[in-house]
Amino acid sequence: MKLIETFESLITNEKYNELNKIIKEKYPKYYSAELMEDLFNWIEGADIKSISFESLVAAAGIAHYDRLILNKKILNNNFCYFLYVLLHETSHYYQFKKHGMEIEMDAFNSDDVIEIADKILNIEITADRLAIRKFGMFVKKYDLQCDLPKSSYTKIKNSENSYKHFLNYIQQVMIMIKEKDIKSNKDLVDAIYNMVK
Ligand SMILES: [Zn+2]
Repeated sequence: MKLIETFESLITNEKYNELNKIIKEKYPKYYSAELMEDLFNWIEGADIKSISFESLVAAAGIAHYDRLILNKKILNNNFCYFLYVLLHETSHYYQFKKHGMEIEMDAFNSDDVIEIADKILNIEITADRLAIRKFGMFVKKYDLQCDLPKSSYTKIKNSENSYKHFLNYIQQVMIMIKEKDIKSNKDLVDAIYNMVK
C-alpha cells in the first residue's frame, strides 16, 4: 500500500513536475493544487514509471511499459478530454497490476480475430469504466464543468462500422505479431507504438 503524498512532495518528482506545469499553463481555470494532489496520487498508485508527451499520429495515448505516453495534440482539446485520456491510460496500469503485464499479449493467443477483438475491447471497456468512475469523482469533488465522457470503446462495440474498423486493426496487429515473432507485451506495445507514431 502506498501512503498519500502531499502536493509539495509529489511535484518534486520529475514525473509530476512537467505534468503539473502543463496543466497549470494549459488549463488554468481547472487547475488547483488539491486536484493535482489527488490526481497525482491516483497515478502514483498505478506504479507508472514516467509520463511523456510525444507526437503520435493515430492514438491519444499509450500505456507503454516504461512510460505513459500522451499525444501532445490532446492538449489542443479541453481539460475534460485531456483528463479522460490521462485517466484511461492510467487505468491500464491498474489492470497490469491486477492481471499482469501480459494481459494484452494473452488476448492475442488465438487465431480467431473476433475472439481477440472481443478480449481487447473488454480490456478497453474495463479501463474506460474505471476511468469514467474516477472522472466522475473528480467532477463532483472539484465541481469541474465537464460532462461525463462516454466510453469510446463501448461505441466501437455498438457500431457496425467502427467494429469493422477495429477488426481490421486487430488483424493488422495479428499479422505484425506473426511477422515480428512477438512474444511479450513489452514487444507488442513497442510494435503498436511504432505503428501509431
Ligand atoms: Zn486503452
